[in-house]
Amino acid sequence: MPSFVIQEKCDGCKGGEKTACMYICPNDLMVLDATAMKAYNQEPDQCWECFSCVKICPTQAIEVRGYSDFVPLGSSVMPMRGTEDVMWTCKFRNGTIKRFKFPIRTTPEGAANAYESLVGKDLDSNLLATEEADGKTLVTPQATV
Ligand code: SF4
Ligand code: SF4
Repeated sequence: MPSFVIQEKCDGCKGGEKTACMYICPNDLMVLDATAMKAYNQEPDQCWECFSCVKICPTQAIEVRGYSDFVPLGSSVMPMRGTEDVMWTCKFRNGTIKRFKFPIRTTPEGAANAYESLVGKDLDSNLLATEEADGKTLVTPQATV
């Protein structure tokens, strides 16, 4: 199930310019209905179910189905983010509730740079980063007559 906003819980991030879910979605799927002040997923088919919006939402207003490798099928999962960990509440289909805590990383927000040691960095080269690092050049096809 792609991300789903529980309308009763969403407060539109209290009218900020960009809501938390809009900020975090890697696929730019979340949008805010400025009249109702409620967010929604504008293109559910494109949702990766990455849980980023679920974890960042300050009002626990977003649901995504839980993967069967960490919760039983059909259960719901809801996170509560603290400064050092996330407390997940899992509600099983039979009503059983279990909670587990998971530490969060300590990299400051915006400081992660997965490409720091990447050699090929020219985005306009039309080469893959590894090709650029290997010193390859792009061969332009020539028209033959
Ligand atoms: S982050 Fe949560 S409260 Fe904020 S707009 Fe998105 S769904 Fe609503
Ligand atoms: S689960 Fe991930 S991809 Fe889907 S809407 Fe939320 S942040 Fe975007």
